[in-house]
Amino acid sequence: NLSQEKQETRRFIRMASMHLSGLDPLIITPETNFVNIGERTNVTGSRKFLNLIKEEKFEAALEIARDQVEGGAQILDVNMDEGMIDGKVAMVKFLNLIASEPDIARIPIMIDSSKWEIIEAGLKCLQGKGIVNSISLKNGEKEFIAIARKVRMYGAAVVVMAFDEAGQADTLERRIEICGRVYKILTEQLHFPPHDIIFDPNIFPVATGMEEHRRSAVDFFQATKWIKENLPGSYVSGGVSNISFSFRGNNVVREAINSAFLYHAIEHGMDMGIVNPTMLQVYDEIPRELLEKVEDVLLNTREDATERLLEFAETVKGKVNKSERDLSWRNDTVENRIKYALVNGIIEFIEPDVEESRNQMDKPLLVIEGPLMAGMDVVGDLFGAGKMFLPQVVKSARVMKKAVAYLVPYLEKEKDGKSKAKAKILMATVKGDVHDIGKNIVSVVLACNNYEIIDLGVMVPPDKIISTAISEKVDIVGLSGLITPSLDEMVTVADEMEKAGMVIPLLIGGATTSRIHTAVKIDPKYHGAVVHVLDASRSVPVAGELISDQRKAEAIKRIKSEYKGLRENHERKNVEKTLISLPDSRANRFSAEYKSHITKPKSPGIQRFENYSLKEISEYIDWTPFFQTWMLKGKFPFILEDKKVGVEAKKLYADAQEMLKEIIADKSLIANAAAGIFKANSEGDDLIIFNEDGSVRTKFHFLRQQGKKAKDLPNLCLSDFVAPLNSGIDDYLGGFAVTAGLGIEPLIEKYEKDHDDYKSIMIKSLADRLAEAFAELMHKKVRKEIWGYCPDENFSVEELIAEKYRGIRPASGYPACPDHTEKKLLFDLLAVEDSTGIYLTESFAMYPAASVCGLYFAHPESKYFGLGKIQKDQIIDYSKRKHMNVGEAEKWLASNLSYL
Ligand code: SAH
Repeated sequence: NLSQEKQETRRFIRMASMHLSGLDPLIITPETNFVNIGERTNVTGSRKFLNLIKEEKFEAALEIARDQVEGGAQILDVNMDEGMIDGKVAMVKFLNLIASEPDIARIPIMIDSSKWEIIEAGLKCLQGKGIVNSISLKNGEKEFIAIARKVRMYGAAVVVMAFDEAGQADTLERRIEICGRVYKILTEQLHFPPHDIIFDPNIFPVATGMEEHRRSAVDFFQATKWIKENLPGSYVSGGVSNISFSFRGNNVVREAINSAFLYHAIEHGMDMGIVNPTMLQVYDEIPRELLEKVEDVLLNTREDATERLLEFAETVKGKVNKSERDLSWRNDTVENRIKYALVNGIIEFIEPDVEESRNQMDKPLLVIEGPLMAGMDVVGDLFGAGKMFLPQVVKSARVMKKAVAYLVPYLEKEKDGKSKAKAKILMATVKGDVHDIGKNIVSVVLACNNYEIIDLGVMVPPDKIISTAISEKVDIVGLSGLITPSLDEMVTVADEMEKAGMVIPLLIGGATTSRIHTAVKIDPKYHGAVVHVLDASRSVPVAGELISDQRKAEAIKRIKSEYKGLRENHERKNVEKTLISLPDSRANRFSAEYKSHITKPKSPGIQRFENYSLKEISEYIDWTPFFQTWMLKGKFPFILEDKKVGVEAKKLYADAQEMLKEIIADKSLIANAAAGIFKANSEGDDLIIFNEDGSVRTKFHFLRQQGKKAKDLPNLCLSDFVAPLNSGIDDYLGGFAVTAGLGIEPLIEKYEKDHDDYKSIMIKSLADRLAEAFAELMHKKVRKEIWGYCPDENFSVEELIAEKYRGIRPASGYPACPDHTEKKLLFDLLAVEDSTGIYLTESFAMYPAASVCGLYFAHPESKYFGLGKIQKDQIIDYSKRKHMNVGEAEKWLASNLSYL
């Protein structure tokens, strides 16, 4: 009867189908839906998994396997092919661990390796029936048959790549030729069951700009169809995400390409595939316009399909880069393509291009020494000539790093060693200091000029700098710092280097450093060359001279004598300086009418703001300093139309806006603040802060200008802006601390792992901007609401940035109050550390670096000024007021001393 016949057929089909198993069976019949193979337990595809295996964190690696099974993977691909790992050991260990986890061991394993010994070691661990991925005719029929026999002996199914003695199949014809040949050998010579054969007919990227990649998808589809029709019983698989390889970094487009590809591949008969489920968009939910362009590319329906998709991809990404759209450069030689990518900072094609170049070269190292170096030389020259700007150079460096990272496994395999850099430079932000944007920029610029950089990061103590410099045999040490106490720290490092008997050059850089300070304070401590480097662009010629065998001796002599001259000149000047005594300057204090200007705070005491809206904060950003950070000169927004830097400024601004949007949407940075208004009176040069009950809560200490003033001009001290205690008037003072840098660490880590200095510097510079903007916003809130002395004020953001409002917010470490140690008193007063998460380093730098703190003065005549040089009499007085010894006070105020 019919139904019995049907059942018979069913049984037959089942028998002739692929039977796999973990603890549970997996039978793949023609009725089975697409089988997805989990790919995250693959060191070549998942950086996270790779790191866990490298660090021997197998427990955590198992969690990745478990996640995949829970996420619906039906087969688990395991790959341990990486230069730094003993693949065999790792494979055995990991598979044995899986065997003891029933909820993972449930599904069959696909052992993925290009080395038979690793595969075989893995096969010995499998308990069910797994898959070998992969074997091929690459090394000829003999080896292929020998290995296939063994696979058969172990009872596994096998993936066969379309690869033969002549190379990888990249056309439809070649795919058909190889798969047909393999099928014949396996089924006829070895009696390999067809249902244990899986063909991988090679998924190559589309839209690479290369003519030969236009048919990548179409050829795969047709090869799949051919296999299913002509090689009965066998299966087809492939690594799906490779198809969208050239859109790395643009997930919207990648996900659309992957899904559309899968949709068509399944239609053509693809049975299974290695897919990352998070990189798939639901086919029906792909926006129509995008889908149309994606399918034009996949199905190769029009000549300009790639250009159109690339163009569209830009809009999805919100990025404008003209050079990326004109793809004619893709038709050039591979050397020229690499050079073009470096000069234009285009990352999309660098890996396939480097791969192509590697295949042409005898050794992978030659790719670095040849086309990559040649490209970077052009970048270095253009930057040196002022024809390229910093953001472009940082993007070039990103391309370079990506290319080198791609080559590293091959370099290791070949034991090729490292490429020879011009010289090794150690870079560090000194102890107590947390600022590193400048240092990172110098590092990138130097690296672009073929220097090897060892970056020790921030807050680096002298002994670490010195021991690393010695053990790594570096040629130059570069120190960086932003706050004034770092100047002193640099003197210490120079001193310690001298004691350690070192002679290598020492470079000094960072916002508060100066040629004169370097000459007067640092240079005399160290016999080796000490050079102040004004900015990143100067670092290259300076370093070049200092390592040149011919020019070095001459250069050091010149610099030493130049600094000696500066020192002598400085001493002479000191004598000429006209300063007045502390009592005289106090007698010439600023005094004002206080009473009529005083407003009692609407909300006295401390206010806290946690997780403040980044969107609101971002509206207060002052963009001009952002461009300064990136070494683009000009005032925002005019800079965007500037003749010289406008084009680059625009791109940088667009990238910044894009990242800012992401930060806001993902809430990836956290902004906290504390602010408070307190009862206060001045007492001489101090400011006393009172509790509500009139008892003394704390005291801030200030310094008074001692320069001789023209008639009618006062010798200022910040305390003058608050009513004196003996006036009997109740006055007030505020304080604040804000940060927008909490949570930045994982982002920086992510970008640095990805060799992306551009984004790493971008996020830091944006966090800094947000912190300053937050300070601006908070100040307004204080004026209008919290203190409320200007409740009706109504300024535009431009007017706020131009400080049109009444009152100031001086910050410790700035010219009116250069002593950083006063921050400690403010932090205690507001309980800043507990309420905001900002803390102070031993040099009183704030961490996270994207933080701002200061005091609020409301007096209409209060203003910023510079303290200038002060005399020993004031240092003695100040150290008494602060209960500090004189030496210590001199150390913190080193930059303001009129005497040495
Ligand atoms: N819009 C700028 C604001 C920061 S710079 C930006 O986004 O970068 C200005 C700040 O520096 C002031 O608000 C004050 O906190 C500090 N400052 C400037 N000059 C100062 C001085 N002479 N003494 C003390 N603090 C000063």
